Amino acid sequence: MPELPEVETVRRGLEPVMTGLHIAHAAVNRPDLRWPLPENMAARLTGQRVLGLRRRSKYILADLSGGETLLVHLGMSGRMLVSGAMLGEFHHAHPAPAKHDHVVLDMEGGARVTFNDARRFGAMDLLPTGAGHALLDGLGPEPLGNDFHESYLVARLAGRNTPIKAALLDQRVVAGLGNIYVCEVLFRAGIAPDRRAASLPAAQVAGLVPIIRQVLDEAIAAGGSSLRDYRQADGELGYFQHTFRVYGREGESCTTPGCSGTVARLVQSGRSSFHCPACQR
Ligand SMILES: [Zn+2]
Repeated sequence: MPELPEVETVRRGLEPVMTGLHIAHAAVNRPDLRWPLPENMAARLTGQRVLGLRRRSKYILADLSGGETLLVHLGMSGRMLVSGAMLGEFHHAHPAPAKHDHVVLDMEGGARVTFNDARRFGAMDLLPTGAGHALLDGLGPEPLGNDFHESYLVARLAGRNTPIKAALLDQRVVAGLGNIYVCEVLFRAGIAPDRRAASLPAAQVAGLVPIIRQVLDEAIAAGGSSLRDYRQADGELGYFQHTFRVYGREGESCTTPGCSGTVARLVQSGRSSFHCPACQR
């Protein structure tokens, strides 16, 4: 499931083929994804110029010249493919339409942006630019934004009796953090995933903020380097090789210097929490 760094990588990969350009033709090949697609979606997209591409949490927001914003959520298995763009010396022809190509945007300039989603947990909607939306309202601050800072997190977690892992996954506390990156954050912070949030000293909670930023920044940087590769591959954006220090490493030796622990897996609320019981307390 794509997390914030993957979505940011997709956004950055779409920018050169979408921002500032008109959607010459939009095709919408089915009436729904996870939810019904907006009425007359193809007509409402065709002819619009993309003024900018933003990201909020795990949503990509394309602001259009006509005053609407296209919201895109990749869901579990949604993929964005770019073809036909002049990308350096590489030129991709458009591949034949594939099964599960649900929305296809032919951009001015020749690039084609295809949203493919086999499981259809993804979503798209159109909303007036600047308006609220059920998927966006109530989201906490962006973890890489200025509203997310030490005193905010300390105040937000004070007195919370939930495990720290659940508190960081709560999208009202901070937007866009998912299971993988919360595991990595808690590992680097030396905090056990089942530790009650309220039991952590304020200084330790405050210390999570720079770690969260660092973990996300490193993953986004890894995604950025993958953008140079996609031009030579199949045009799919957003998935990249990234080495996790604890996620998916059950049974392996802990990588913390001086720690002789073994990575273990704990199931919390149906999700795996990879952690080192020796150095995460
Ligand atoms: Zn350890």
